[in-house]
Amino acid sequence: MNGLVDFFRLIVHRNLFSHKHIQAYQLKQLNNLIKHTKKHAPYYQKTLHPLTSLNELNQLPLINKATLMEHFDTINTVGIHKEEAMKIAVKKEKDKDYLGYYQDHFVLGLSSGTSGNKGLFITPKSLTKKLPFVFLARSGLPLRFLPYRILFMLRVFSQGFNDINAPMISLKYLSTMTPVNEIMDQINTHKINILMAPPSLCRLLLPQVHHIHTPLKMIVTYAEVLEEEEKQRLASTFQCKVIEIYQASEGQMASACSHGHLHINEDMVLVELKDQNMNEVTQPHVVAHKMIITNLVNVAQPLIRYEMNDLIVLDDPCPCGSHFRTIKHVLGRHDDVFFFTLEDGTKQPLFPDLISRWIITTSENIREYQLIQHNDESCELIIDPMIHNDLSHLKAQLIERLTQACLEYQIHLKIKVTFKAIPLPQDKAKYKRFIVQG
Ligand SMILES: [Zn+2]
Repeated sequence: MNGLVDFFRLIVHRNLFSHKHIQAYQLKQLNNLIKHTKKHAPYYQKTLHPLTSLNELNQLPLINKATLMEHFDTINTVGIHKEEAMKIAVKKEKDKDYLGYYQDHFVLGLSSGTSGNKGLFITPKSLTKKLPFVFLARSGLPLRFLPYRILFMLRVFSQGFNDINAPMISLKYLSTMTPVNEIMDQINTHKINILMAPPSLCRLLLPQVHHIHTPLKMIVTYAEVLEEEEKQRLASTFQCKVIEIYQASEGQMASACSHGHLHINEDMVLVELKDQNMNEVTQPHVVAHKMIITNLVNVAQPLIRYEMNDLIVLDDPCPCGSHFRTIKHVLGRHDDVFFFTLEDGTKQPLFPDLISRWIITTSENIREYQLIQHNDESCELIIDPMIHNDLSHLKAQLIERLTQACLEYQIHLKIKVTFKAIPLPQDKAKYKRFIVQG
C-alpha cells in the first residue's frame, strides 16, 4: 500500500530532518519541478533554470493568482484549457457534484475571491489519493489513541477517497454538506474517536455533544483559520484535544505535531517569508510582509514562487524537536484585513483574528458570523445565533463590545447587526468570514 509508505516517510522527514537535510531535499525537489515545468509549460520555457543553491531562489520569477489565471493554459503542464475547465468546475460546484475526476485524472478546485478573482487549481489524482495519509501522518495523532476510528469531513469529495478499513485504522469519509443528523448517525455507528473537519462544521456539532456515545479523543481542523478561543471552546465542549492543519488551495502548508504546534510542511512546500524590502524574515513573532510559496509536490500545475494572500507569524522552535519551522498564527488573507481612516487621515488596519476574538468572546450563543465592511467603512455583522430569544440583548452586547474595542484604536466604528442562518459554505475554498466590499 503506497499510502502507508508515504505515511512513514512523512513522519521521518518531520521528526528527523536537520536544517541541512531540509534544504538539500527542497533543492532536489525544486530542481525536479523546474526540469519538468521547463519541458512541459510554454510559459516557463525561457525563464526557468535549475539552481545550485536555495540562495538563488530570487532569480526565478514571481507569480500570483492573477498571473496564474491569465496564463493558465501555458502554465499547467497537462494541457488543460481554462475556459472549459472553469465551466465544468463551476457547474460541479453549483450541482454540488463532487464526484469524479476531470479527464479521468484530475481534481479541479475553485478558490473564491472577489468577482473576477476566482482561482482554479489542478491536483492530479495520484496526489489526491495521498492526501489522507498526509493528513494522518501530519496530524500529531499519538499512537496511544490506536485504534484510530476517523471521520474525515471533506468539502471536496472525490473518488480518490475510498473508506479505509485496516485493523488499527479505519477511515470514513463524508461530505461537509451532509445533514447534521446523518453525521451524528455515522459518528455513533462507527464509534468515531477522531473527527477531522473544518471549524465551521465542528461548530455545527456543538449542540449535539450529548448525543455522542463514544467520547472523541481528538478533533483535527483544517481549511479555515482556527482562532484560539474557538479551539478552547471546542476542546472544553467535546472534552478532547483540538489541533489544526493549515491547508490552502495552493498546497498543504502546515500541520500540527504532537505538541499541538503548527509546523510548515517543509518537504511539500517551500515557503519564503519576506519583509517590505524583500529581505528574508527568519525571526519568530514578526508579521512577514509577503509569503511566497513553491509547491514541491504538484507538477500538474506548477506553483513556483507564488505570492499568497495569507500572512503568517513564525513561532519559537518546538519542544518536539522537529526542525520544520513553526507557525504561531495565520493572520488570514490580505483582503480580509479591514482598514479604517482615523481623524488624522492615517489608515488603521484591523486583523481578522483580533475582530474574531472580540466577537466570539462576547457571547457563547454565536454559532457563525460574518463581517462585511462597506465602501464608506461602515460594517455589517451577520450573526447566526444558537438561541432564538433575547436577540436584542445579544445585539446590544455585540455593538457595545465592538465599538468599545475599536475606540482603543481610535476607530469610531459604525456597525449594524443582523441575525440570520448562515449555511455552510458551498465553495471549496476557505470560508470567508471577513469581506471587504469595494
Ligand atoms: Zn512540534
